[in-house]
Amino acid sequence: MNETFLLSRGKLITFLECRRRFQLRYLDGAAWPAAPLPVADEARLGLGQQFHQLAQRHFLGLPVETTTIDDRTLRGWWLTFEKYKPKLPHGRNMSHVRTLPELTLTIPIGKHLLHGRFDLLVIGEKNGIPFAQLYDWKTGRPPDETTLRYDWQTRLYLAMLAEGGTALWGEGHNPLPADQISITYWYVTAPDEPRVITYNQTWHEQNWAEISAIVAQIEAQQVEGGVWPLTEDRSQCQVCAYQALCGRQEVGTAVPILADEETDDFMALPLEPALP
Ligand code: SF4
Repeated sequence: MNETFLLSRGKLITFLECRRRFQLRYLDGAAWPAAPLPVADEARLGLGQQFHQLAQRHFLGLPVETTTIDDRTLRGWWLTFEKYKPKLPHGRNMSHVRTLPELTLTIPIGKHLLHGRFDLLVIGEKNGIPFAQLYDWKTGRPPDETTLRYDWQTRLYLAMLAEGGTALWGEGHNPLPADQISITYWYVTAPDEPRVITYNQTWHEQNWAEISAIVAQIEAQQVEGGVWPLTEDRSQCQVCAYQALCGRQEVGTAVPILADEETDDFMALPLEPALP
């Protein structure tokens, strides 16, 4: 097998949770989830997606008329966002500042590709040094800082910018230093407490090594072929739609894992191996 994979946060997590689930879902194209989501979960996902669309519209410079938002929850979120949204970088010593909502970035890693979709990326230069500030909108409750720092979204997005972000400036600019990259999580449930995580070169070297090691494991599994190993963590099976395919119905009724409204999988990325 020589496919080049388009690897997103969701796919890396899936591989780490269960290699067989990765194979079934992304290589074999087995339907996921097998059953429709509960109505309340569908509604939550829908509202989260609509909220992101409103934010995108806002940062594209298009008007958002609050009175036209019918759903009361969504309208409340939007009013909160308008009041508390984080301040974007600006100042006299800044130049080449660009505000890029819903930006997609794809960078090579070995023979594969890492893929991320950012809610908002602001890039520019401060005193001639490039910077990149990511923003991510959340409609759930914030986790503790350590959890957020080691979340795969944080780790993957920061690493992707450190490895491939310089290309966003084009030729003739200085490289983007890791310590000039940050991600800000803004929660509608804690709107005046944005969580800001700043990257650095030491963290990047360790982080990139770990990401590369996972990709190498995926590649080794590709070469090995056959049925990829079933997880030994049976709790994963409890939230997996593939119980019947694995003969693990005994672990309980499957409640398929919900996609976070902000994840790249939710944004309907290709699920199949993709060529660059
Ligand atoms: S049922 Fe369990 S072993 Fe099978 S794909 Fe799902 S998580 Fe993996």
